[in-house]
Amino acid sequence: MLIPWHAPEKQLSLQFMQTSKAAIILHLQLVRSYAFCPSCGTQSTHLHSHYYRFLFDLSSGTQHIKIHLKSRKWFCDESFCPRKIFTERFSWVKPYTRRTDRLQVLLRRIAFSMGCRQAEQVIRPFLPSISHDTFLRLIRATRIELPTTTAIGLDDFAFCKGHRYGTLICDLIAHRPIAILPERTGEIIENWLKQHPNIQLISRDGSKTYREAITKTNPKIQQISDRWHLLKNAKKHWGNG
Ligand SMILES: [Zn+2]
Repeated sequence: MLIPWHAPEKQLSLQFMQTSKAAIILHLQLVRSYAFCPSCGTQSTHLHSHYYRFLFDLSSGTQHIKIHLKSRKWFCDESFCPRKIFTERFSWVKPYTRRTDRLQVLLRRIAFSMGCRQAEQVIRPFLPSISHDTFLRLIRATRIELPTTTAIGLDDFAFCKGHRYGTLICDLIAHRPIAILPERTGEIIENWLKQHPNIQLISRDGSKTYREAITKTNPKIQQISDRWHLLKNAKKHWGNG
């Protein structure tokens, strides 16, 4: 049976395949008889042992693609190398993860395109094991380059409504999130601003905590009310008037 699955590495060999209405399980292994030590780069043909990894890949329609990957361990025979045994590396999946790189890329794009609960609903027909917490972890684990921007927007959001809040910081020039802080306290804002002395303008809500933290760290930063809160307050004022 042919399946529309594109192998991420040429030297992968399909040993056998299991299919069901919900999933396709591919049993794969590398065909080459050597590996390179990740510490010293020496090629090894001295096999130690093997074990199996269970991975998720991009879905094929509504069928989940799971990979049962044989992963081998090798001896490094280079005398000066501190690593005596190593696990072979794959170009398409990182060690200690359960999702292929291309699946991670897709999930990350979805995570940064919408709210995490909405993302969970979008992905559920294809990968029911992915929760909104998975998307949150992906966002937190994404390395974001230090901003060169001078203008940011900051607002609080709920990790758990009524219990725990964080702060989202967005680059107002590039229109993208650049940091998620685990709290909304003045101290954490001050610390972040001290690490980013290039900031000149901040759009924020009416939070006294934010205002005082910004003023305390750098009184020269121009603070403006963000559009959403400005309109909300204007509407409230007109409503009362
Ligand atoms: Zn080595």
